[in-house]
Amino acid sequence: MRTISVLGATGSVGASTLDLIRRERDKWRVIALTANCSAVDLARLAREFDAEIAVVGDEGCLPELREALEGSGIEAAGGQPALIESAARGADITVAAIVGCAGLAPTMAAIEQGGTIALANKEALVSAGEVMTAAVARHGATLLPVDSEHNAIFQCLHGEDLADVRWITLTASGGPFRDATLDQIIAATPAQAVAHPNWDMGAKISVDSATMMNKGLEFIEAFHLFPVGLDRLRIIVHPQSVVHSMVEYRDGSTLAQLGPSDMRVPIASALAWPRRMDTPCEPLNLAAIGTLTFRAPDETLFPATRVARECAHAGGAAPAVLNAANEIAVAAFLAGKIGFTRIVAQCEDVLARGIPAAPASLEDVIAADADARRQALGLLERA
Ligand code: NAD
Ligand code: MG
Repeated sequence: MRTISVLGATGSVGASTLDLIRRERDKWRVIALTANCSAVDLARLAREFDAEIAVVGDEGCLPELREALEGSGIEAAGGQPALIESAARGADITVAAIVGCAGLAPTMAAIEQGGTIALANKEALVSAGEVMTAAVARHGATLLPVDSEHNAIFQCLHGEDLADVRWITLTASGGPFRDATLDQIIAATPAQAVAHPNWDMGAKISVDSATMMNKGLEFIEAFHLFPVGLDRLRIIVHPQSVVHSMVEYRDGSTLAQLGPSDMRVPIASALAWPRRMDTPCEPLNLAAIGTLTFRAPDETLFPATRVARECAHAGGAAPAVLNAANEIAVAAFLAGKIGFTRIVAQCEDVLARGIPAAPASLEDVIAADADARRQALGLLERA
């Protein structure tokens, strides 16, 4: 029996995780399940999985959660401190699947317990960078990437020496606008942007995928997870999303991980690591897929990967500022307040206003994030 907590249980990655746990109920004991506010959904999951505690990040949703859990014997809690406390209950494995920098403090609390963290919440690692990787080392925690590309790279690096790596290549689907013209991109609506051709995901990452900021964030994520140096990381567009990423070694061998576009595969890899577990995913039918294609990214149409690479090179608080500016811009786009191409342009505008000193602690990262959000909101108001 292993214990597990799922931070962001009501989301897309949370649902995929719980679907796997549901299939081997006898092997897992669920400690904490969390959500932002979907109290009824969260309570239903907490009852189904007999969780120890259910937590809503938004304290205003706590009365609804309490009511929905009445008579169950399951603890109900709300607010950021409760989220952090539940993440610190020392589960053997914590699936970090909150979206955005909102997941940073709970993820750090889980890391401080020294257990295994299955990390989907890339924004937390992008923002905190060395503050998070240092905490992982200090507390003897194990960080297993769930993001499909990073999980692929992790698998391709298993048993290898980083000194032998020539390239790590992140694949990108290119998102829904990969074949669009500039005019179509300028006119893109939120409904078009969230309609991803290959993956079924939450709204924020779907928009990031459409702008290619998702790949930009993943570039920074890879830099922290696999310290081979920025000049050994590159991005290639692969519209079929079958090859999830690759590692080329100095002898000319390239190892790749292939699989269906189903997050249950990388999640299962993290849950069972270093072994394997069954998933209900469709087996890969390469004969039916027929063709795998690859092409270089177009950074004129999609500047996000260039902007993210520049932030990775700048280091310090630059990635945290980029991430915060992007979160605000994506929310504004989804709310119909700005056009699609303003998302990345607004990130550049916020970055141009200056970068705070390199963060040395979680508090520093949270302050840099909050400051960048204020700048981004200020720019929106003046627009
Ligand atoms: P989602 O929007 O479907 O779910 C997000 C979860 O976080 C929900 O449970 C929500 O209630 C919770 N949440 C949102 N804001 C919160 C807040 N302020 N405080 C506390 N909880 C909050 O998102 P998702 O698509 O499941 O993505 C989750 C994370 O995984 C993201 O960082 C994303 O980049 C990453 N990821 C997702 C996929 C995917 O296929 N969906 C793939 C790779 C990586
Ligand atoms: Mg990914």
